[in-house]
Amino acid sequence: MSNPVHAAKASYPSVQLFIAGQWRDAAAGESLAVNDPADGREVGRVALARRADLDAALTAAAAGFEIWRRTPAVERGRIMREAARLFRERADRTAQLLTLEQGKPVAEAKAEVLFACDIIEWFAEEGKRVAGRIVAPRTEGTLQQVLKEPVGPVAAFTPWNFPINQVVRKMSGALATGCSIIVKAPEETPASPAELVRAFADAGVPAGVIGLVYGVPSEISEYLIPHPVIRKVTFTGSTPVGKQLAALAGAHMKRVTMELGGHAPVIVAEDADIARAAKVAAAAKFRNAGQVCISPTRFLVQNSVRDAFVKGLVEATKSLKLGHGLETGTTLGPLANPRRVTAMERLMKDAVERGAEVATGGERIGSGGNFFAPTVLLNVPGDSLVFNEEPFGPVAAVRGFDTLDEAITEANRLPWGLAAYAFTGSLRTAHALTQGVQTGMLWINQPAPAWPEMPFGGIKDSGYGSEGGPEALEAYLNTKSVSTLCV
Ligand code: NAD
Repeated sequence: MSNPVHAAKASYPSVQLFIAGQWRDAAAGESLAVNDPADGREVGRVALARRADLDAALTAAAAGFEIWRRTPAVERGRIMREAARLFRERADRTAQLLTLEQGKPVAEAKAEVLFACDIIEWFAEEGKRVAGRIVAPRTEGTLQQVLKEPVGPVAAFTPWNFPINQVVRKMSGALATGCSIIVKAPEETPASPAELVRAFADAGVPAGVIGLVYGVPSEISEYLIPHPVIRKVTFTGSTPVGKQLAALAGAHMKRVTMELGGHAPVIVAEDADIARAAKVAAAAKFRNAGQVCISPTRFLVQNSVRDAFVKGLVEATKSLKLGHGLETGTTLGPLANPRRVTAMERLMKDAVERGAEVATGGERIGSGGNFFAPTVLLNVPGDSLVFNEEPFGPVAAVRGFDTLDEAITEANRLPWGLAAYAFTGSLRTAHALTQGVQTGMLWINQPAPAWPEMPFGGIKDSGYGSEGGPEALEAYLNTKSVSTLCV
């Protein structure tokens, strides 16, 4: 049997731009290297767009919008469902590409592809339900209509941690409502989002409705956001970059959705099923090696059950098998880029210097790839960096608490408000946390199923707008108020 890593490397494509319905190299012929995070070696290249490519994408998006907004919602939904079918059919191949460029275990990569299909299908259906309303008039013979219209061509900027799922929510919301979209997908993980776009193109989305570019992120955002063709901006990534892009969009009065960072508290109350809480929280923690905006990061455990919870968490952590994501049995891959390893080392050093105890892990593994041992830190001081900066890596930092109020105060202490988790067997505690924790999303007694029918988004420094539920379609719609006196 051939080695799956070698086979995937041999078939990694040269990733092109998708502009005006055509796959093409950059006009200037420039490209960037794509590396396998497991060994740091180049596996392929991605085309790098400059101004001429962006101008072509903008012209196409303007033309594509005129076609797509006139396409009936049922027809848009039919094409989207066909895209989901094709993407599902190609799941194995796409998952391999995703693992090769991003690092996550191939089972997680496949789950990401299949979940994307679910998202597309939900939006395809929901797009048919976009409706306005008729408002009772004040005078006879007057018709008062409230209409919903697509906002226009969208510029979307998406990161490398979920190369497919960060794109698919944006693309599905835009397409379901009749918008065209230019996606600047992640340069470090370009092939898997290109496969998503390919599924839509092969399903019959008209030329210009979807554009796909890669390049220098700041160069592209600074050109697309102010451009008059673009009417809506959507970004997923870090809070500092989100603030910059939101400010630029504000200066040009563009509609904005921002899905930014977080630092999710996990509150484990003494009345929870502790063994189950440890298992569920560990699985959520180490998914995608912790490179998840909603990853559990601040483990706040009631002191009376702290030892039992830590025992379960450490056992689950030690049972992970680190390796190349394409190798059988791997449950934890490398970090997606060397920046994350450096960040982890910095957080570890600081935590230990401040008195935290390393229960397991705490260091990088090997030197060729971006492997970092899954880590549990105990007695982590509240002023340590890991409790104050988004870790975005495989570290669970644990602190004890005595009263629920103490836990809620700690949960709300930081400027973010994206995700939060709680484990409790008591409705009273669940209600108190639901009322008290400042967050966009709260999961109680479960990991984080981010189903497309539920709103997905944050508050405070975690951004605004939603990428799930009917709210996600609203983000791509304008409201028009029409009053007609029928003379
Ligand atoms: P970063 O902050 O430079 O980049 C984050 C993302 O934003 C990348 O996809 C990047 O291409 C994009 N980006 C950066 N500058 C941009 C610009 N001027 N215009 C448009 N896009 C731009 O750094 P990074 O090392 O890639 O990631 C670091 C941190 O970002 C992580 O620690 C994490 O906190 C955050 N992050 C969050 C998410 C998320 O899902 N919310 C995803 C990836 C990264």
